[in-house]
Amino acid sequence: MPERIYNFSPGPATLPYPVLEEAARDIVNFHDKGIGLIELSHRSREFMAVAAETEALIRELMNVPDNYRILFLQGGASSQFFMVPMNLLAGGGRATYLNTGTWSKKAIREARLFGDIDVAFSSEATTFNRVPADDEYTVDPDSEYLYFVSNNTIYGTQFATMPAKDVMLVADMSSDILSRPVDVSRFGIIFAGAQKNMGPAGVTVVIIRDDLLDRAPDTIPTMLRYKTHADKDSMFNTPPCFAIYCVGRVMHWLREQGGVEAMEKINRKKAAMVYEAIDATDFYRGHAEKDSRSMMNISFNLPTPELEARFISEAAAAGLDGLKGHRSIGGCRASIYNAFPVEGVERLVEFMEDFARANG
Ligand SMILES: *Cc1c(COP(=O)(O)O)cnc(C)c1O
Repeated sequence: MPERIYNFSPGPATLPYPVLEEAARDIVNFHDKGIGLIELSHRSREFMAVAAETEALIRELMNVPDNYRILFLQGGASSQFFMVPMNLLAGGGRATYLNTGTWSKKAIREARLFGDIDVAFSSEATTFNRVPADDEYTVDPDSEYLYFVSNNTIYGTQFATMPAKDVMLVADMSSDILSRPVDVSRFGIIFAGAQKNMGPAGVTVVIIRDDLLDRAPDTIPTMLRYKTHADKDSMFNTPPCFAIYCVGRVMHWLREQGGVEAMEKINRKKAAMVYEAIDATDFYRGHAEKDSRSMMNISFNLPTPELEARFISEAAAAGLDGLKGHRSIGGCRASIYNAFPVEGVERLVEFMEDFARANG
């Protein structure tokens, strides 16, 4: 293995090393066929098997019920911000949204182009430092769905449990899909861009309950209907073959780790180590309120922007890369998705302790 640094990037993010090695080999020569993976026709038997296996592994790992379809789409998670309301709010239906960060705000703006949107909760006034408890908002009874972002990548907040409301849920799980078990049957749609917790950029996984496929009005473009892609097993047009392949390899790796239950335990442990380091001194200040803390993205501040800049550059020099916070809140952020190793978290914690001692 070449020398690797620890990559805390929020996405695209670190991937399991064995997956990178396998992909590097298969790009050049796929299963000894004398042809590279990214040269295969998407209609070839070989690639069809790759796509089918990737889907089967996601279904198994997430325990996706039979009446749900799993789609591999393009246009990023951001395209789901309009595809969801376009397909589900035909003729100006109503939906409830929770505004817990940049990604929900963008989704709300798009949804308003198609339906009557009720924003039942917002933590914007406190710089999105928390997500709501169930008793802090009500869902309009005419709502087709309740939309929320399960993990707020930028602000480092996460729903500890999914909203317990008597309404179909729709969730953007881009930054915490497969990090813990989820009861898929409570959702109409779950979507996630692959580049945080599943693979490289280029594919968005959409899990959709099959009765929703027929909801879209005739007036919406073919490519933007879920049904188009469901009817053709995500092969209506050329799918992002390489990204789908990589997601499949990451799913294999995840299964070897013991699946999502085992992964949740590891994720809890990793996050607890960093939060303990934050709480141990007054030098570090976590952005999220404790009940809303994310296991995936840990956003924190130091006493001054100058110290933050020094922290980020000295950490990078020590092989801890990508700790700069998002430009909208500054400070630091450690993204520690499934594939981020425990040893890297241990190294970060040691670095944080040393840095606080030297500069505090
Ligand atoms: C990164 C991210 C997005 C945007 O994903 P794209 O694939 O770049 O469109 C949306 N939602 C969440 C929660 C994210 O973390």
